[in-house]
Amino acid sequence: MYKERSLSQRVTEGRGRSGNKEGYYVEAVDAASNKRVDDVRERASPSASSKGPNVKDKDRSVPSTSTGRHTANLDTRTAYEKTEYPDDGEDSNTNTEESDVSGSDGEDPSWISWFCGLRGNEFFCEVDEEYIQDDFNLSGLSSQVPYYDHALDLILDIEPPNDDILTEEQHEMVESAAEMLYGLIHVRYILTSKGLNAMLEKCKNVDFGRCPRVYCSGQPCLPMGQSDIPRTSTVKIFCPKCEDIHYPRSKYQGNIDGAYFGTTFPHLFLMTYPYIKPAKPTQSYIPRIFGFKLHKSAR
Ligand SMILES: [Zn+2]
Repeated sequence: MYKERSLSQRVTEGRGRSGNKEGYYVEAVDAASNKRVDDVRERASPSASSKGPNVKDKDRSVPSTSTGRHTANLDTRTAYEKTEYPDDGEDSNTNTEESDVSGSDGEDPSWISWFCGLRGNEFFCEVDEEYIQDDFNLSGLSSQVPYYDHALDLILDIEPPNDDILTEEQHEMVESAAEMLYGLIHVRYILTSKGLNAMLEKCKNVDFGRCPRVYCSGQPCLPMGQSDIPRTSTVKIFCPKCEDIHYPRSKYQGNIDGAYFGTTFPHLFLMTYPYIKPAKPTQSYIPRIFGFKLHKSAR
């Protein structure tokens, strides 16, 4: 029956869930910046509908349905090697949600594919379900995430027992918890060889955006956190050329918790794939007045 859900229903559903997510991020970034909170409110949909707890009997054998997303990326983003600075921030992000919806005609995506396809979640790679099913990989997370068992079931599209009915409010808590749990699994996964490889594909696709610095010539960046402790700071992008960190171009991406990418990822990534590491920038900006460089004493 769920395969017959109309396009508009899917969109509403997505926004409903996205709205829940905002609740969490509003809280997370509140202290950091009021402007960001306003951005988040602007993004939140008036529709408060969310997927009921029963809407989970998805076909587990459905393969990853992110194909539509990647196709869109190919269309809207320039090749990795291209050095000119493209305007691939907001524009391509605008297409992501739509392409997710149109790309999933017929079959329901898994929760993971759906989550990674949401606007603002472009930095996340799809974590292997096998990785999540191995308890060893999740050790210590149950004490960090509320509604841990429900959140894990949601991520893995496992139907909860029938006698375990959640109120709407509890369900929203589980949705937020699932997003946090996914993030905390994600930060571990991207340090594994499979995870690094998944991020390599995204890097080649310039899913993480480019360095805004002029002399970095549109160098593709890598996502990272300034802290490994959740709710400390939002995600930043690291430029391997100038070796500095920047805010992501998209305000949606800018509200993601940096702890879901961690402090280690970009550096382990560049050690694993050294050919990705670019040469140091050869030029740097020199301030001039009427063409003359400024004397040290005048600066
Ligand atoms: Zn740079």
